[in-house]
Amino acid sequence: MIEMHDVWKTYPDGTNAIRGINLKVDSNEFVYVVGPSGAGKSTFMKMIYREEKPTKGTIFVNGFNLGKLKARKIPYVRRNIGVIFQDFRLLPKLTVAENVAFALEVIEAPKRLIKRRTLEVLELVRLREKADSFPNQLSGGEQQRVAIARAIVNNPAVIIADEPTGNLDPDTSWEIMKLLDEINYRGSTIIMATHNKEIVNTRRRRVIAIEKGQIARDQQRGEYGYED
Ligand code: ADP
Repeated sequence: MIEMHDVWKTYPDGTNAIRGINLKVDSNEFVYVVGPSGAGKSTFMKMIYREEKPTKGTIFVNGFNLGKLKARKIPYVRRNIGVIFQDFRLLPKLTVAENVAFALEVIEAPKRLIKRRTLEVLELVRLREKADSFPNQLSGGEQQRVAIARAIVNNPAVIIADEPTGNLDPDTSWEIMKLLDEINYRGSTIIMATHNKEIVNTRRRRVIAIEKGQIARDQQRGEYGYED
């Protein structure tokens, strides 16, 4: 599903953010990415959804060699990857339903399908009754559920979640984790960067620790392993 071979990322200013990562993630795995701030977690995730290109090495996602990808092929790959951020990143002038439908409109899906699929995923995140609300009328947890609905609407093979519970209180964080679990159960591979020690230590899954741009630890049913 995801393979990295000797992947390096040096930013234009010379920062070596990722330094020789080798990794294989199978389809349907749930992986936590942990590590100190500045360790390279976001860079690692950005390379998977092709926001950043590796300076060296190869990355395969869902059979595509991301380093060799032609610009016009990027949308095809992105369609297979749903991304969720700490700060939700919803479009403030669009309603909940429009935010979700937008991801289908850009791929020019038929109108009836857009409507049906949008309601289906809003049902899944239990927000159907908020379909016509605007993001600023929702709580943080609800906004993150909209972002999740948007991320899964294309049925992506991979979900990248960069600190999805970072702005949420503990109860709401657990709600979001339940949803991600359900999405994983339905077949998506999930890669989640997190600083949430309690979640990692309670819901034991594969843990990859990144330190100074390298994989410092890779454990099945691992633990958080840091004090913060
Ligand atoms: P983390 O997500 O673990 O906090 P990042 O991937 O954001 O780590 O950052 C890794 C390193 O790369 C840090 O030293 C950071 O300052 C640097 N970095 C991140 N993005 C950029 C960028 N666009 N340009 C230059 N340096 C960057």
